[in-house]
Parts: sequence; C-alpha cells; structure tokens
Amino acid sequence: MLYCFIIVLGLCIGINCLKCRGPEFVSRDDWDARPPSEIGIMQTPVPYVVIHHTYKPEACYTKNDCIKKMQWMQDFHQLNRSWNDIGYNFAVGGDNRIYVGRGWTSVGAHTPKYNDKSIEITLIGDWSNETPPLSQLITVNQLILIGIREGYIIEDYKLIAHRDVGQTECPGDALYREIQTWQNEIAGRNVRIPNIQNIIPRRPAN
Ligand SMILES: [Zn+2]
Repeated sequence: MLYCFIIVLGLCIGINCLKCRGPEFVSRDDWDARPPSEIGIMQTPVPYVVIHHTYKPEACYTKNDCIKKMQWMQDFHQLNRSWNDIGYNFAVGGDNRIYVGRGWTSVGAHTPKYNDKSIEITLIGDWSNETPPLSQLITVNQLILIGIREGYIIEDYKLIAHRDVGQTECPGDALYREIQTWQNEIAGRNVRIPNIQNIIPRRPAN
C-alpha cells in the first residue's frame, strides 16, 4: 500500500514538474545530425499537426538512447529512402525530450499533401498495442502549444493522425485511440506552459 502511495506521489510530482518547467529541446547539433541535402521552406503558421509513431526504432527512455534512434532514423530516411533529411519536424522521446528534426520552418516528408502545411511530430516507439507514457503525451502537447505561442501553428489547428490521411497503420492503434480523447483527457489535466494557459489541443480532424 505504502509502495503504491509512493509510486503515485512520484508520478504526480514528475508530471507537475513537466508542467511547470517546460520540455527540453535537443538540437540537431546535440544529436549530431547530418545537414539536410536540401531544404524546402514552409509557410507558417501551419493549419495542421500530424501525429506519427516511429514503429521502428522502438521506444527510448534516456537521452543517449534517443540520440541513437534519431541517428538511425536519419540514416534510414536519407540513405534508404533518399529523402533530404529525417522525415519529421520533431520527435518526442520516452525521456520527455523534444528532438529537433526538420524544425518549425522546413517542409517535412512522410505525409504527402500535408508535408508543406503541417508540423509532423513522431512519438519514438511502436504504439500499436501500448499507449505511450503520459509524460511523453504531455510533452507532445507542450510542443504543440509552444508552436502556437511562437507563431508556427495556428491557434485553431487541426490534429491529424497519419492514418487519417494515408494508407498506413501509423501512429498505431493504441496511440490513435489515445489522441481521439485528447480534447477531454489531456486538456482536463490542465497541461500548460507559461503564457498560454487557455489554449488546449483540438479534437483530431476526421
Ligand atoms: Zn506516420
């Protein structure tokens, strides 16, 4: 019983810290990214946020491990798929850090027809059967809110899962179910970052 209490208390403290501190960004230099072979400049603010999972590589829970996954993805996307760069604009690790992919102003890959008008966020891991940890989901929401605050995403944006607009299982059944509930569940937890306390994630577009 006591152990349960301690675990729950620890979880609450962890989540509260995430809310007050804001997430840590890991720059391309920090994860030792190769330069893109070409950059497409994106018009911002964008009207869409597209959610992905990586499927492979699997989830990571430390900075060192997540950096390795970022490098693996960049290799795969640039060398095997011949894309200009890692496909996503951002990746969120199980360590609750935000890894910068193409960033806020470069056109992504992965979601044809939406690449040039969306911020593409992937949650590192295979979320077909398992839901990502709450702290990782909160970090995704914080990232979206930062994008709105900084003028890269419109306030009235539409949240889309990759499978909503493409022939794919991405972002996995479990994560897909989760993001259907974001307007109620995540907003209900008062996820916020300084200066934008009243903006909440929107229901996914159908
Ligand atoms: Zn995807």
